[in-house]
Amino acid sequence: MPSMLDAVVVGAGPNGLTAAVELARRGFSVALFEAMGTVGGGARTEELTLPGFRHDPCSAAHPLAVNSPAFRALPLERYGLEWLHPELPMAHPFPDGTAAVLSRSVGETAASFGPRDAGAYRRLVEPFLPKWDTLARDFMSLPLTALPRDPVTLARFGLLGLPPSTWLTRRFRDERARTLFAGLVAHVMAPLGGFATGAVGLVFALAAHARGWPVARGGSQAISDALAAYLEDLGGSVHTDYEVKRLDDLPPARAYVFDTSPTALARIAGFGSHYANYRYGPGVFKIDYALDGPVPWTAPQARTAGTVQIGADSDEIAAALRAASREGRAPDTPFLITVQPGVADPTRAPAGKHVFWAYGHVPNGWTGDLTDAIERQLERYAPGFRDRVLARATAGPPELAARNANYVGGDIATGAVSGLQLLLRPKLSPFPYATPHPAVFICSSATPPGPGVHGMSGHNAAKAVWRRLRQT
Ligand SMILES: Cc1cc2nc3c(=O)[nH]c(=O)nc-3n(C[C@H](O)[C@H](O)[C@H](O)COP(=O)(O)OP(=O)(O)OC[C@H]3O[C@@H](n4cnc5c(N)ncnc54)[C@H](O)[C@@H]3O)c2cc1C
Repeated sequence: MPSMLDAVVVGAGPNGLTAAVELARRGFSVALFEAMGTVGGGARTEELTLPGFRHDPCSAAHPLAVNSPAFRALPLERYGLEWLHPELPMAHPFPDGTAAVLSRSVGETAASFGPRDAGAYRRLVEPFLPKWDTLARDFMSLPLTALPRDPVTLARFGLLGLPPSTWLTRRFRDERARTLFAGLVAHVMAPLGGFATGAVGLVFALAAHARGWPVARGGSQAISDALAAYLEDLGGSVHTDYEVKRLDDLPPARAYVFDTSPTALARIAGFGSHYANYRYGPGVFKIDYALDGPVPWTAPQARTAGTVQIGADSDEIAAALRAASREGRAPDTPFLITVQPGVADPTRAPAGKHVFWAYGHVPNGWTGDLTDAIERQLERYAPGFRDRVLARATAGPPELAARNANYVGGDIATGAVSGLQLLLRPKLSPFPYATPHPAVFICSSATPPGPGVHGMSGHNAAKAVWRRLRQT
């Protein structure tokens, strides 16, 4: 290691790894320090239950990664990353045994909403699809780390997306499309009536039509391992089992980039109350299952989808989100996001067996056990589910926070995705990656474009860092 590095990155989640890679690609010397024994943060894979069952403790479905302008510009396939696509990106089954679906095909998706809403759905998404790559790059670079390439399309997207998702879904006459959209918004734990939540739903839908919602062959760890291997090939060094508690723990460098929560950064760098107004959102309660066979969904579409959303209608989903985020209680009927990677990737479990995960929203810091409520929901849509369970590993807010310091109180978005904080995080500032110290930067999902495995916060932060490195 040189006596003075160009950049030190703290935290090897997708954003920290991407920031490190972007800097190393431009010839800067980079070292990365990670608290846990392996790289990955929210993109890891572990045998959490039984031997041979490879679980993703955090991210598993990757609409944002496969559509990420940052990842698409990196040679990650050369380092072992392979995207595997389930027949359907997502299904949303209903209690009557039917399902709405998010398919690669706009037509199939529209048809699943029923004849009264098929046309409205087509009119909503089709104008954006030919321009999707530019649009994705433009809004994932907000606030203006790059000038928009297509400001007109970005403005049209903003007009539709900035109001609450409940306004957007008024164009649908039936509950099927509204429910599926409500579920999409809940992926980032945003309240359905919140500012810019229309954009959240639209992004997930457009991402499905453009490139799908794949899983990574072998598990999400493959994304992180590919980034780390590329970084090392570029000359960067990776140090695991190294928790950073103070800036003095780090080697001398011209810039420091933190893939941490704002609160942790303030503690480590001595920024006092700089981020005191930053708000954390609800937590989640997650269960990883080893199953004796596939999930016995009643709706046939759900058997071929990588992701399955569980919520009877938009009111039930809104009530579950409200209970966890505003009412300080766990919902009686939780809204569930579930992922079954085995429908696309046979390497996750021994022959004939499956891994499967499900989580529901709970208040920040909640210490109860949501297992029974989650399994009652699953049994509604997949009778006999419990009989397939070989083993389960549960993690509520305390366990999630212990596994990853960024999940403060179990908030897997590292900060509430509500109000202006959905877009303007971690502070109201045109320079979200800058901090009170000119050589210290923040790049975690507490910065735009927010949660998810896409590396774009790391990519955008790296731009701010290399501008500084070239000036000093
Ligand atoms: C249960 C769950 C399910 C999810 N599902 C999906 C999904 O299907 N698809 C999707 O796109 N996203 C999903 N996500 C969200 C996604 O995982 C995160 O948004 C993403 O990982 C954020 O990336 P990041 O780099 O900002 O931070 P993280 O991935 O959280 O990484 C931060 C890293 O920094 C390290 N660190 C923190 N403090 C220190 C310190 N002081 N010293 C050293 N190291 C430190 C941590 O150990 C961690 O490795 C899920 C998350 C969870 C928890």
